[in-house]
Amino acid sequence: MKHSILSAILLLATICSFAAEPKHKTQNFILITLDGLRWQELFNGADLAFIQNKKLVEDSAGCVKKYWNADLDTRRKKLLPFVWGTIAKQGQLYGNRNEGSLVNVKNPYWFSYPGYNENLTGYADPKVNSNEFGPNPNVSLFEELNKTPEYKGRIAAFASWDAFNDILNEKRSGLLVNSGYEKLEGQGLSDNMQMLNSIQYQLPDIFHGVRLDGVTFNMGFEYLKTKKPRVLFLSFDETDDFAHGGRYEDYLNSAHYSDDFLRILWNWIQSTPEYKDKTTIFITCDHGRGNDQEMWKHHGSETPNSSQTWFAVIGPDTPPLGEIKEGQYYNNQFAKTWADLLGFNFVTPNPVGETITKVIGK
Ligand SMILES: [Zn+2]
Repeated sequence: MKHSILSAILLLATICSFAAEPKHKTQNFILITLDGLRWQELFNGADLAFIQNKKLVEDSAGCVKKYWNADLDTRRKKLLPFVWGTIAKQGQLYGNRNEGSLVNVKNPYWFSYPGYNENLTGYADPKVNSNEFGPNPNVSLFEELNKTPEYKGRIAAFASWDAFNDILNEKRSGLLVNSGYEKLEGQGLSDNMQMLNSIQYQLPDIFHGVRLDGVTFNMGFEYLKTKKPRVLFLSFDETDDFAHGGRYEDYLNSAHYSDDFLRILWNWIQSTPEYKDKTTIFITCDHGRGNDQEMWKHHGSETPNSSQTWFAVIGPDTPPLGEIKEGQYYNNQFAKTWADLLGFNFVTPNPVGETITKVIGK
């Protein structure tokens, strides 16, 4: 009996062990996800044939002016100026298949809940096979961090899609998860937060229960400024919704202003002493999409190539290698990589993908 108690204690200790000395400079971590944004637009910019298809873009001439240029570098920078102006110079970008960098989800489903479960728990669980799966049996890195004195109560997630209450198992994990249409509760909310609490209900509900990303971003950013969490997760959804609706210009616009969210966050981080040179931002997605102008609207195991993903990272421990042009990585490696950046060893009863050592400069 004594022996089994001791083994249980040892097992618990290995699940999430905190390094005595911080191994890296990263002390705060921000995760951003852009639902179903393709690597094709990230690395190639806007697609001219898509823009000229009147079924996908009403004002093709206006969209060409806004996002098209024959030169690849100019074109992708027009769509995503922060990614190509700052992350490509100071951070790392993975997933440009034209250059030989491959990233895929490991799960066989290629849609959202399985993808986010894989990102956050490091385990591509074959049992997680539905967007209506309910409370996640798997434990995320954030849930493990929330059990430590250093991070307890200092982790927050703001998401446009309401499934994150289940994906992060809000009830069991005790994490702050504000997702879908949801007011932030609590005492002493700032005037800005009170306004954001109200305004989310005063805008068109065009995606039927999915909050607009501008609201999600501003709530998360206001929380960051006023509550100073150590881990912040912002999950945006419009890119996926507009793609399903066949609205290519709106999909591009959403990617474009999400890039500006990154710029705003990074500028604030680098001008705030508690965060400057101590904070890593990691940006990724939950699945890819099909290739051509019809299949682009879809994803899932019936849609070829929609397991193809990407990620980008910028922070004090990540060598400025820019666009990576080799290797095969999987989304199930993210959680352990984030843990490693923060000085944790993330081990769970499930098989978790290995750390991506290039990200942490090894
Ligand atoms: Zn979708």
